Parts: sequence; structure tokens; C-alpha cells
Amino acid sequence: MGMVPRRSEQELATMRTAGGIVAQVLQEMERLVAPGVTTGSLDAVAETMIRDLGGVPSFKGYLGFPATICASINEEIVHGIPGERRLNEGDIISIDVGAIWQGYHGDAAITIAVGEIQPELRMLMHATQAALEAGMAAVRAGRRMGDVSHAIERAARAAGCEVVREYGGHGIGRAMHEPPRISNWGPPDVGLRLREGMTFCLEPMLTLGGYATRVLEDGWTVVTADGSPSAHYEHTLTVTKNGAQILTQVPVQGPEEEAR
Ligand code: MG
Repeated sequence: MGMVPRRSEQELATMRTAGGIVAQVLQEMERLVAPGVTTGSLDAVAETMIRDLGGVPSFKGYLGFPATICASINEEIVHGIPGERRLNEGDIISIDVGAIWQGYHGDAAITIAVGEIQPELRMLMHATQAALEAGMAAVRAGRRMGDVSHAIERAARAAGCEVVREYGGHGIGRAMHEPPRISNWGPPDVGLRLREGMTFCLEPMLTLGGYATRVLEDGWTVVTADGSPSAHYEHTLTVTKNGAQILTQVPVQGPEEEAR
């Protein structure tokens, strides 16, 4: 596991810009999601936005994936392909976005409610977000990746949710997926020793049913085997001696922009 690089300040600044593009796109997705909207139209907006901001969509063409966003509705966990499908009131949709800026990647996901949703779906969304926050809170230089995985699993179980086991987070930097693979469950005090400047994506996927998954015939869309709903949140972050620092955040406006 000596192959997990530590990024320079300049590399981190570049990744922060890539992450800023991703975060702005997700903010726009949150604004646009509504009953009747197609996932394909969201994808078109996301691609235009990334390119207008000077980035390159990182999912498009990745292992043959045909789109800029992954759009995963209800029992779909991750890797849903956007298209003609229209969102319905009561759905939840995970939108995952990746962008490249000057050779470095940013990758993040949020789950968005479509209109009014059932209280248990609201709970699932909150629990998944809390699991991501618990994972990030366990990140600190000197701790181990197992501590992060364990914190995510504990938070999920505390909320009465199951954690998807076959998919998880990953290293990120010059490629979207770099070592290590990051489990969303498992024992503490094992695995990679975290060091300042390492960059990772944490992305818990929680379900209201079991953790078993299957892939649809499109070869991409991962769904819960039992059809239960799933939520998914993700951030790109770097390790500091004081904790995790999120790289996928909407940039703070400069004074000249605020003055307008
Ligand atoms: Mg990811």
C-alpha cells in the first residue's frame, strides 16, 4: 500500500478546483430535480456546465460509460445511466458527478428527494449523509483506513440501515479510481495508515433492506437485490493532521463577485 501518493499543496489546489466544478454541478442538479424532469436532461446540463467551467466530464467514456452523471433512482444504488426516464414525485435520486481539471479529478455524489417523499426515505437520506460525515470524522493523519470503514458502518447500523458491501470508496488524483479500495464496513485499526496529503473518495451506500446487489442488463446499473431503496453520498477529501478536508465544495466567492 506504499503506492498511495501524498499530494503537494499545488496538486491539492488543482483538485480543489476540480472538486469545485463538481460541487457547483451538484448544486445545480439539486435545483433542477423535480417531478417530470428526465435524467437525460440533467445529464445534458451537467456536461455543459462542466465544460463551461473549463473541466472535462470524467465518467463519460470511462470503461464505456455513456454519460456525464450517474443517475440512480430508488432501488438503484449507483451507476444508473441517464436517459428518457422521468422523475416521479416521491422518488429519491443519487446523482454522481466527476470532473477533471488540469489532469486532476474531483468526484462527489448526493441523493436528492423528488418532491414530497416518504419519511423512511428521508431517514435513509439523513442516515447516509450521517454515515459519510462519520467516515470523514474518523479521517486523521496517523489513523487507519479501517477506522474510517468502521465509523461508516457503525453510523449506518445506529440508524437501522444496511451498508452495501460490494462497492465503496477509492483513492483519487490523476485517475478517478486509484488505490486503495475503501470499504464502507469492517473492523477498526486495520488497513492503510493515513498520511497528510493523501486524497480519497468516501461514498457510503445505505439501504432500507439487505446489502446484496445485482447489476441490470444494461451492464451498469447496480440495484439492491431485494428492491429496497438505497441512498448514496460522496465527497473527495484530503487527509490533514487535524482531520479530513473536503475538496468537493462550492468555491467561496471572491470579493469582486460578491460586490456584483
Ligand atoms: Mg467515486
